[in-house]
Amino acid sequence: MQNDVSSFNPYRMAVQQFELAAEKLGLSEDMRETLRMPKRELIVNFPVRLDNGRIKTFTGYRVQHNVTRGPAKGGIRYSPEVTLDEVRALAMWMTWKCAVIGIPYGGAKGGVICDPKHMTPAELERMTRRYATEISIVIGPHSDIPAPDVNTNPQVMAWIMDTFSMHEGFSIPAVVTGKPLSIGGSEGRNDATATGVLFVTQRAAKRIGMPLEGARVSIQGYGNAGGIAARLFHHAGCKIVAVSDTGGGIYDESGLDPAAVSRHKQETGTVMGFPRAQSLRIGDVLEVPCDILVPAATEGVITAANAERVQARIIAEAANGPTTPEADAILFQHDRLVIPDILANAGGVTVSYFEWVQDLQSFFWGVDEITHKLQMLMNRGFDAVAEYADKYHCDYRMAANVLAISRVAEATQVRGIYP
Ligand code: NAD
Repeated sequence: MQNDVSSFNPYRMAVQQFELAAEKLGLSEDMRETLRMPKRELIVNFPVRLDNGRIKTFTGYRVQHNVTRGPAKGGIRYSPEVTLDEVRALAMWMTWKCAVIGIPYGGAKGGVICDPKHMTPAELERMTRRYATEISIVIGPHSDIPAPDVNTNPQVMAWIMDTFSMHEGFSIPAVVTGKPLSIGGSEGRNDATATGVLFVTQRAAKRIGMPLEGARVSIQGYGNAGGIAARLFHHAGCKIVAVSDTGGGIYDESGLDPAAVSRHKQETGTVMGFPRAQSLRIGDVLEVPCDILVPAATEGVITAANAERVQARIIAEAANGPTTPEADAILFQHDRLVIPDILANAGGVTVSYFEWVQDLQSFFWGVDEITHKLQMLMNRGFDAVAEYADKYHCDYRMAANVLAISRVAEATQVRGIYP
């Protein structure tokens, strides 16, 4: 990792980004205070029986940043690195993401401090069901709807949906999104984040006159967002020159075959050691010669320390919070086009929104309709942000944040303060 993990604080960074946009907007201090603070934070410590008979107490969080525009929405992350500040930051970014893409949700996020790679499926299920029970006092189909994030998947969502439904006494599919199709999941949800990243990158490439055919792409992270992005960009005619995961990176200037890399990762657990590819150190994937860089792993990886060495013309942020404000300034100076996380990876929450709508009406759409609707919303979001960036000569992050914050501020204003 590029950042100094001990000093990097995603929440401090999210607030810094917010202040920059609030300043540009000329937002009053009263409104800033209202929008800056998370609305509700739940910390839960709960016991789980391990397979060896021991009982381990886990700590989990659910933070709802803002619910002015609709129910809270946001993923659940399982990782040893989860902190309350990380969850706060991710919840705040969800608020802006839903606002910039124009879907009627507020922002939330959840997480459990755990190491799922060292837990058995049975332990993971018991932990998930107990965490779901603990946070059931704040989640619900009309209040707060979780979804998958790092190290959680459709199976984890199924356990949460089942647990919540057992307590209520009947099935409530709309309490989570990213579920398996068999219990009310949506067509297209699995690929949605990466599909959205591709749509906005196509839009950005067109604006700067860069042909996507043959464009060299480097991707950090090879999970749901990054692995699928590799496949989709490859199908779109790009050349995937580098990819990485926690084990390190691989590089091949003649282009990697994402299907073969995925098979290799499935067999060995990492992309490292892929035949005929050159090995990279973990941060190098951000700096290799390429036209498009897709950070799809974690926060705080493009910093003042390495931003100058980023060679890509377009940086499409599939991950949340990969670029620090200091790095943003450097990238803007160097004429790099950063498609910010709250726009670039909004495809995931957009198809989650479609899933929720389908669950509530118990009427389901085909994949073509989903993809068409997704493309419409992503293009509309991109065009609004690009127009603002052109008009005010600012970077796309500032433009996206200003748009999003102004929408939430307007909703706050028009609803008024209760009582
Ligand atoms: P995932 O758990 O499926 O995959 C994460 C990948 O990143 C893994 O391959 C892991 O090995 C790799 N990784 C972690 N740290 C790394 C590092 N320092 N260097 C290189 N690789 C590293 O998670 P995901 O769902 O793909 O999420 C990745 C990012 O995308 C997160 O920031 C997440 O919040 C964001 N995101 C995901 C979705 C979604 O629908 N899955 C939606 C929006 C945003």
